[in-house]
Amino acid sequence: MKTKTDLRSILQRIDRRGYKAYREIQGTYQFDDFTLLLDHVQGDPFAEPSRMRVRVDQARAGFPPDTYQGKNREIGLRDYLTRQFHQAILQVCPRQRRGTGRSGLIQIDAPGQEILLRTSCLINERFVEARFKVGLPAAGRSILAKEALVMLFHELPQIVGMSLFMKKLNHRLLYEHLEVNEDQDALRQMLEPSKLVAFVAEGSCLPRMSGVDDRPLEEAAVLFRAPESLQFTFTLPTSGEVTGMGIPEGVTLIIGGGYHGKSTLLDALQRSVYNHIPGDGRERCVTVSDAVKIRAEDGRNIETVDISPFINNLPYGKDTTSFSTPNASGSTSQAANIIEMLEVGATALFIDEDTSATNFMIRDRRMQLMVAKEKEPITPLIDKIRLLCSERGVSTVLVVGGSGDYFDVADTVIGMEEYVPKELTAEARRIVTEVKTQRSSEGGVSFGDVRDRIPMAASIDASRGKREVKITTQGTRGIGFGTNTIDLTALEQLVSPSQTLAVAKSLVYLRNNYMNGLRPVRELMAMLERDLTVQGLDVLSKRSSGEYALPRRLEVAGALNRLRSLRAKYAEQTD
Ligand code: ADP
Ligand code: MG
Repeated sequence: MKTKTDLRSILQRIDRRGYKAYREIQGTYQFDDFTLLLDHVQGDPFAEPSRMRVRVDQARAGFPPDTYQGKNREIGLRDYLTRQFHQAILQVCPRQRRGTGRSGLIQIDAPGQEILLRTSCLINERFVEARFKVGLPAAGRSILAKEALVMLFHELPQIVGMSLFMKKLNHRLLYEHLEVNEDQDALRQMLEPSKLVAFVAEGSCLPRMSGVDDRPLEEAAVLFRAPESLQFTFTLPTSGEVTGMGIPEGVTLIIGGGYHGKSTLLDALQRSVYNHIPGDGRERCVTVSDAVKIRAEDGRNIETVDISPFINNLPYGKDTTSFSTPNASGSTSQAANIIEMLEVGATALFIDEDTSATNFMIRDRRMQLMVAKEKEPITPLIDKIRLLCSERGVSTVLVVGGSGDYFDVADTVIGMEEYVPKELTAEARRIVTEVKTQRSSEGGVSFGDVRDRIPMAASIDASRGKREVKITTQGTRGIGFGTNTIDLTALEQLVSPSQTLAVAKSLVYLRNNYMNGLRPVRELMAMLERDLTVQGLDVLSKRSSGEYALPRRLEVAGALNRLRSLRAKYAEQTD
């Protein structure tokens, strides 16, 4: 193996030469405490920064087995070390400018409030590895070797020294991270045996700093209190007993006046399909992992979805058992969003009136009298919500401040009052008997079919120009997929840009490996989930990349369904 002295002499030799000469440093070099792997060197100072890895032998790094053995600990430690590396970068080189373009940049995946399986850091019995990007410095297009030497021989060793050695880290905080992560996984496992879809611990801090800042609101936050009648107590593996509010399976309403914290509670629930970091405020809140937020999304593309459980008799006889449109309405989009998520196995739906189509949610008595059922294409959710539960075992948590008609179909009613929940199920029952809605139920005797669809591989094309795969991502908002763009803004449970990239790559992976014109979306997503969790996210690309975080199959399916070029057909029905 080459040594750091070799690297230094190459850099000194190519100083001031054209940027392409940086290619010569590609390779592996032994430093004092680590190995530096220069995997890919950028072509010019404005291009994607160069991809590098650092490996520290476990003998030197010194992480005890109990910090990474077992899936859960491993994920926790990889996430923690990524955060330490990121912090170290900010401390060692806050400015990150050493010339033209991206010169001077050192970058690792910057995690948010969730603990996710990431490729930015790896750990096993043999080594710890960090994967990051470096903008190799230049003035104009000529190499600045002196600056590169500072980055690779001074800054980088400092960053590595601060983050990848057990003895340099705060053991208490490190173990807290691992234990909080472990407790959340364990708590989530306890939901189903207790017939709960979610749990929010006493003392949790649910409100966020702002609509664009996911950190906890610190001042003036009212901490969570569980109503007595919904209290559950669980024993966690590392931190003992925890008491909080359990949300039972079935149909749950969150009601209450405007601005009393309904949406904040629902947001916390939908985010708690992921584990949160210590101090987040939601680190003792968990939700069943296949719960999905559903919202209206007018304008979206829909490709061959049987939305007939909710929508029938469209004008001019448009078929709703095989519905396609490049421009869905609020109600048809919300219907398709539900059916598509049932297709890939969602077990709970979270719906907020703030982001729903009113006519999808409710048709009241007066409107039923005015517009006959035959003339109204929409069967509102209120008339299907119990069938979803009884026939398909799918629970719903619904924020409705606006319609008491839903009292008829609720199992549990939670009222928010000045950010404090109360159980109001008994009051709601009383009102149901005293004040009739006089609605007639329009839902029929069965929910209806959810049919398997088979995507056509040829319709999933990421090529653009000469490039076979051209993918760009815009945070968690969208994907440029070949000549298509995929709008992801309605997938609220996509939480990290690194998940977005993994979603995009997953579509390509599925197309190249598994789509054969026979396998339905449901099966494809199961295969993907298996590969990503068993083999790891590295299956998504030929070169090792530090830029992936594990997405749920629900969001991958969500992206596939929103690809405007998608063509699909129904699988043969065997039953
Ligand atoms: P609703 O959906 O009931 O209209 P929101 O959940 O949107 O209300 O909350 C309204 C405002 O109150 C938001 O700015 C939110 O951040 C804040 N908020 C919510 N819960 C709390 C809490 N527990 N403590 C302090 N502020 C809160
Ligand atoms: Mg609201």
